[in-house]
Amino acid sequence: MGYKKPSFIENIAEKIGIIPNLHKEKYQEFDGDMRQFSDEEVAQMYENFPPPEKWDHWEEYNPKVWPKKEKKIYQIVPTTCFNCESACGLTAFIDKETQEVKKFEGNPYHPGSRGRNCAKGPATINQVTDPDRILYPLKRKGKRGEGDWERISWDEALDTIAARIRKAIKEDRHNEIAYHVGRPGAEGFMNWVLPSWGIDGHNSHTNICSSGARFGYNLWYGYDRPSPDHAEAKFILLISAHLESGHYFNPHAQRIIEGKMKGAKLATMDPRLSNTASMSDYWMPSYPGTEAAVLLAMALIILQEGLYNRDYLENWTNWQEYLKARHADKEVTFENYIAAMIEEYEEFTPEFAEKESGVKAEMIKEIAVKIGEAGERFASHNWRSAGASNLGGWAVARCLHFLSVLTGAVGAKGGTSPNSWNKFKPTVPNPPKPQKKWNELHFPNEYPLAFFEMSQLLPHLLKAGRGKMDVYFSRVFNPVWTYPDGFTWMEMFMDETKFGLHAALTPTWNETAFFADFVLPMGLASERHDINSYATHGGTWIAFRQPVLREAARRNGKKVEFTHEVNPGEVWEEDEFWIELSWRIDPDGSMGIRKHFESPYRPGEKITIEEYYQYIFERVEGLPKAAKKEGITELEYMSKYGAFEIEKGESYNKNENPLSEEQLKGTVVDKDNDVIRKNGKDIGVMVNGKAVVGFPTPSRKNEFYSQTMVDWKWPEYATPTYIKSHIHNDVLDKSKGEYVLVPTFRLPTLIHSRSGNAKWLVEISNRNPIWMHPDDAAKWGFKTGDLVKMNTDIGYFIDKVWVTQSMKPGVVACSHHIGRWRREQDKTGNRWATNTVNIDNSEKGKWKMSTKSGIKPFESNDKDSKRIFWKDGGVHQNITHAVHPDPISGMHTWHQRVRIEKPKEGENYGDIMVDTDRSHEIFKEWLAMTRPAPGPDGLRRPLWFKRAFRPDDSTYYIKESEK
Ligand code: SF4
Repeated sequence: MGYKKPSFIENIAEKIGIIPNLHKEKYQEFDGDMRQFSDEEVAQMYENFPPPEKWDHWEEYNPKVWPKKEKKIYQIVPTTCFNCESACGLTAFIDKETQEVKKFEGNPYHPGSRGRNCAKGPATINQVTDPDRILYPLKRKGKRGEGDWERISWDEALDTIAARIRKAIKEDRHNEIAYHVGRPGAEGFMNWVLPSWGIDGHNSHTNICSSGARFGYNLWYGYDRPSPDHAEAKFILLISAHLESGHYFNPHAQRIIEGKMKGAKLATMDPRLSNTASMSDYWMPSYPGTEAAVLLAMALIILQEGLYNRDYLENWTNWQEYLKARHADKEVTFENYIAAMIEEYEEFTPEFAEKESGVKAEMIKEIAVKIGEAGERFASHNWRSAGASNLGGWAVARCLHFLSVLTGAVGAKGGTSPNSWNKFKPTVPNPPKPQKKWNELHFPNEYPLAFFEMSQLLPHLLKAGRGKMDVYFSRVFNPVWTYPDGFTWMEMFMDETKFGLHAALTPTWNETAFFADFVLPMGLASERHDINSYATHGGTWIAFRQPVLREAARRNGKKVEFTHEVNPGEVWEEDEFWIELSWRIDPDGSMGIRKHFESPYRPGEKITIEEYYQYIFERVEGLPKAAKKEGITELEYMSKYGAFEIEKGESYNKNENPLSEEQLKGTVVDKDNDVIRKNGKDIGVMVNGKAVVGFPTPSRKNEFYSQTMVDWKWPEYATPTYIKSHIHNDVLDKSKGEYVLVPTFRLPTLIHSRSGNAKWLVEISNRNPIWMHPDDAAKWGFKTGDLVKMNTDIGYFIDKVWVTQSMKPGVVACSHHIGRWRREQDKTGNRWATNTVNIDNSEKGKWKMSTKSGIKPFESNDKDSKRIFWKDGGVHQNITHAVHPDPISGMHTWHQRVRIEKPKEGENYGDIMVDTDRSHEIFKEWLAMTRPAPGPDGLRRPLWFKRAFRPDDSTYYIKESEK
């Protein structure tokens, strides 16, 4: 970070101590691992951050009793935040006397977050002390969903669930067992557990989140996530703010600011003036779904102006394959490649892009030139947003990556690398082989290219009679509320022939847990073990989420066998739960499951949680040496600092890594495309006479031309394309009041469905009105606070209008993460955020919800609960959305066509209506848009495509009997 000269006023203010002295030497110089400084220097830089040798005895005055001086003595234990995927470092301040966690601050030893957090990190303390949290295992009484529960022992829960799983596996009903996860949080743990049971039982939330963008990136270079090097970039382009207000929020945001301080320019494409857009040099308020048209116009300008990186295009794209397939009449020369691309995109003029998107042609041209001039130092990101919202949304990431390819920014310093280059993968003990099962409830043959499990379709596939779930775990997962079409989820959960046993693993009540058989409380961020590693910059790190009271107890000489001994109530940690459950499924080892969960150090005995992590940490490059230097074990090192930097910055251009002589033994080079093959597997490519690893695609290069798309029946999308969305202006009838609703953003202080138990966060953000431009509001006669009825394809919700210049005219938006509810009969939970609602289903297939009361102050052991001043808990919008899976990527396309109208007499704020029969019809309509497997060789999916929890290759082939 560069040193900024203080102004005259700042100088005086710093000198007399009115503001902290931010300009003292080194304060702004820090740009890497904090361990390059002495502890004193670190403490000085972070003003009061305690140096590690004082972490077992840190004295501070209690601010709550000011002006009295009351000394408090803390133990400080690091962990990581669980309130988004970034896993920033936290440090828990534990009262040494009472062993209670009092607050959370950042961890300067964490290379991703470097001591900084967003509002959600410190709010972890709210979740820990939430008076409504679940402390004991519960079993339902009465009918599922009736709201009656009884406390049970962990043994009863574990034995009941284990017996049912054992029976299903023994009866070869593996596909009836599933673990469905929202926020995973752990690196590799369930990849160890589920294949050890031999099941294809993983289901994720990714197809309502990021799989569209992942698909677009994967087609290009075999990696599905970008890792932009913002701090070193000269130009940064973000498709929407959703990344910076949700995903990798703080680690990326701080590096974007660093880049800007060094002169980088930032452009944001978003129909909403988000926080990020407001900090940008260019705001491009594009019409939703037209982003790819704008990006292709930029690509055309870069090509026409000769601003492309010739070396990169020539060496690292499969241009010869493209010319041979698409321009067989032309000679295979690089010049013809450029000419063919210009011809291919000639319709994408800036004027055409302006017509589609509403972004001024002049601005598109200016940004394109700036990107071309930034060259390799062009960083970009598209995650959810446009990729998660539109039919063909995956094409946005594909067209964005096209710009990185044209400029040679792929993997370059200041450019955008594949995420996997900056991510650690653990080596687990006793690893299982890939399962020999393929679960068509997760990966149905209609969606052979779907990048993740078709989780949004699970209730419809069950409704259509295509299987059942005998044992179903929901974990940090709340589909009734988060997913589209929550009432269909509810219908299926209520039907015990569809969901035999539903265990909700959750620290807090949620709308899905109300429909479980067992509610099993699991630890929050500071109450569980996980490994984290994310691509936050051009380096690689590993962080350790740990139960802080367990670590404090260890330091205090107290032996703890299980984490639940130190957690509040009987809150378990999940890792120990899965080990315990696995032993009970296979108590005598005869099923071949137990052996995976035996200690690698004490043969035949049950692995402990310390052994699992010690085994992994021993195998982290560089960590044994660092631990040895301090005379401690690798596990103790991670428990002490909470993180370790495996590879500092400068990890660029890994596609150019040479193959070793050993690797090259016995290889052959394909004459057609220079791919190097060994034992039938592609391992590299010849580039400029050198044998290098390349990218994990069939050509080992960036694939401008995708033979895979041709082979799998989508030849029209063989090259980067603009696909008109399902909410394109052409398909909306403005005369009927049809608009596009953007429901994909959230306020930066909220966490999907998990901020309801964090009072500070709910206090900041507790409503989700409809954002509407003043011109649209005037047309309708709306003013801020007026009620508006939003009619979707399957029902409606009634919300309030917020008139704001921050919205593109002709588009409306509504934040998700608000509109939480509970029914009268439900256990109290999330009372900081939930409305009490009435749900009526007296007519089959017709669901109505109305708000009985908003948020109210309540009595609890937290005095703040009586001080609640907000009343309005917002409206649940997602439940009124139909499922719209993109027929190629499988991504749910979140944007909605809505018909806006004024509510009728008797219709009230918060009213919701949904027709689930109609939603099932829409599921069928979208299913009919697919081009099902088999593909070439009878495959159900391209072998080179990544797949979560990838099964054995033999399962990729559809058997004759299944066709
Ligand atoms: S960005 Fe915020 S919510 Fe996400 S891990 Fe960091 S501190 Fe937690």
